[in-house]
Amino acid sequence: MSKPTKGVNGTASANSSAKGAPAKAAPAKPKRGVRIEKPPAGSENLMKHTVFDELAFPTDPNNLYRQTVGSMLQAADLMNLPHELKIILAQPKNEIMVHFPVRMDDGQFRLFKGYRVQHNNALGPYKGGLRFHHDVHLDDVKSLSFLMTMKCSLVGVPYGGGKGGIKVDPYKHSRGEMERIVRRFTAAIAHDIGPDYDIPAPDVGSTSQHMAWIADTYCSISEGSGKNGMAVVTGKPVEIGGSLGREKATGQGVVDTLVEMLPEIGVDIKNCRVSILGYGNVGSWSGRIIQDKGAKVITVMDHTGAIRNDGGLDAHALAIHCQKTGGVAGFKGAAAIAKDEFYKTKVDVFIPAALEQMIQEPEAKLLNCKVLAEGANAPTTPAGERILQQRGIEVLPAILCNAGGVTVSYFEWVQNKTSHAWELETVDRELNKHMIAAARRCRDARKKYKCDLRTAAYIGALERLKQAYMVRGIFP
Ligand code: NAD
Repeated sequence: MSKPTKGVNGTASANSSAKGAPAKAAPAKPKRGVRIEKPPAGSENLMKHTVFDELAFPTDPNNLYRQTVGSMLQAADLMNLPHELKIILAQPKNEIMVHFPVRMDDGQFRLFKGYRVQHNNALGPYKGGLRFHHDVHLDDVKSLSFLMTMKCSLVGVPYGGGKGGIKVDPYKHSRGEMERIVRRFTAAIAHDIGPDYDIPAPDVGSTSQHMAWIADTYCSISEGSGKNGMAVVTGKPVEIGGSLGREKATGQGVVDTLVEMLPEIGVDIKNCRVSILGYGNVGSWSGRIIQDKGAKVITVMDHTGAIRNDGGLDAHALAIHCQKTGGVAGFKGAAAIAKDEFYKTKVDVFIPAALEQMIQEPEAKLLNCKVLAEGANAPTTPAGERILQQRGIEVLPAILCNAGGVTVSYFEWVQNKTSHAWELETVDRELNKHMIAAARRCRDARKKYKCDLRTAAYIGALERLKQAYMVRGIFP
C-alpha cells in the first residue's frame, strides 16, 4: 500500500492531469431570470487563483479537481475565508491507493487498483461512497471526496468528506469474482476505515450487496475490538441494518429540493415536464418520485440510448425495464431518439444523474429547460455553466440537490449506533427537514452575497467549516 499523505494541512500532492493553458472566455450578461451580480462560476477567474500556484495544481482547465476546487475558492474569496482554510480545503488530508490480487473464476490472478481519499474530518468522520468503474482515477476520487466535505457541511450532518473506488467494471465479473474483489479491497483498506473514522457507502457501480460484503469482511477482521462493525458502511440491505428509504434517498432529496425551489422560478411541479440523463439509482428514483407528484417525464438518456414520449413516459415501468435489461434502450413506452434531440427537447426541469462533466458547452447550448437540478456530482463544467447562466437557466448545485443520499446514510448510521430502526415516514420527514434547511441556507447566502446558487451553496458549507476550525484550532 502506498503511504497516505497525512497531516491536517493536506499537503500538495501529485495530480494526474496533463498541463495546458487556462481557458479564456469573456464574461457575458445573463439573459433572463437569474440573479447574478458577481462574476459567474465558469468565467475565466475560476481558472486562476494563487492557491492553485501555491499548491502546484494541474494547469489543465479541463481537470475535474481544478474545476471543482475553483468554484469553492471563488466562494471563499467572496466571504473572505482565511487563507489557511483555503489551502487546507483545497487538498485532501489523506490519499490512499492500494493494489491487490484476486483469483478469477478461471484460476488466474488479476491485480486491481483501489482508492480511498479522505478529504476532511473537521466536522466528523470521513463519509462518502465507493465507485466501481473501469475508468475511475485519483483526480475523480479527490473531487468527489471534496464535494462530500462540502455537502455534509451544507446539509448539516456531522461528517467530513471521503470517497473511494475500485478500477473495475462490475458488469464484466461474475458474482463470485465481485465478492472476492470487494472483500480483498476491504481487507486492504480495513485499517483506514471504521464506524467512527471513515464510513463508505454505495456510488456508481456499487450496490447494497457490495456494502454487505464490506461490512461482513470488516466485522471478521475487527472481531473482538468491541466496535459495532456493521456501522462501517451505510447503504446496506435492510436485513443487516440498512435504513428504510436509503435506496431512494438521493432521488427523494432531488425532488424535495425542487419542491422547495421551483415556486420562486415560476415552475409548478404538478405540471412540469422533466428530462433525465442517467436512469440508475439517482435518475430513476428522481423520475419515479417527481412523476408521483404530478410531473411528466418526457425524455431519458443513459449509456444505452435516448427515448422520448411527449405525453409523459411511465417512470416506474421504465425503472423495471432498466433493472431487467440494463438500460433504457428498447423501452416500449417511448420512441428512440438521437442524442441531440434528447438535449434539445423543451422541458421545464433537466436532471443530470449520470457521471461528471457531461454538461459541457455543446450540451449547455442545446438544453431547452428552465432549471437544471444536479442529481449527479459535478455534472456541469464551468464553461457549460457559463453558457447556462447566459441563457438564464437556473442551476441547482449538486452539493444541495443530491445531499439526500448522505443524509439518510447518516440516519442509517444513527440507527446502527442506537440499535434502533426508524419507520419510513420518520426517515422521509427528517430528510425533508434537512433538505429544506440546506436550500434556505443557500438562498440566504445568495441574498447576502448577491451571487449565483452554486457559490451560495459553497458559502453555506464554508461558514460551518469555518466555525468548526475557529473552535477546534489547527494542531499543534
Ligand atoms: P448508477 O450506476 O446507479 O447510474 C448511473 C447512470 O448513468 C446509469 O443509468 C448509466 O446508464 C448512466 N450513464 C453512465 N454513463 C453514461 C453515458 N456516457 N451517457 C449517458 N448515461 C450514462 O449511479 P448513481 O448511484 O445513480 O449515481 C449517479 C450520479 O449521482 C453519480 O455522479 C454519483 O456520484 C451521484 N450520486 C449518487 C448518490 C447515490 O446515493 N447513489 C448520492 C449522491 C450522488
